Amino acid sequence: MRAKQQRICVACRRKADQAEFLRIVSAADGRMGINPGPHLEGRSAYLCNSLSCYELALKHRSLQRSLRRPVPEEILQELEEVIKLEEIKRKELV
Ligand SMILES: [Zn+2]
Repeated sequence: MRAKQQRICVACRRKADQAEFLRIVSAADGRMGINPGPHLEGRSAYLCNSLSCYELALKHRSLQRSLRRPVPEEILQELEEVIKLEEIKRKELV
């Protein structure tokens, strides 16, 4: 059995299974996506699904640094929306 790959959040440096993180992919052709699936391959950055890590990443430009290119505003907005939705879902479960 293959060990599960551990990933590190670019904001808080927490280590966890890849499935726990949001994955931001920057493809060689310039496209970027959030949790894009197999059609978009490239350099990846991982972020906890939490607003505090999102804000930390914004503040320190962690995503930009990890992906080695600027992150477009629409990707940041999409990321924020994904995280907010996730937080709402979590609250509803409690
Ligand atoms: Zn984190």
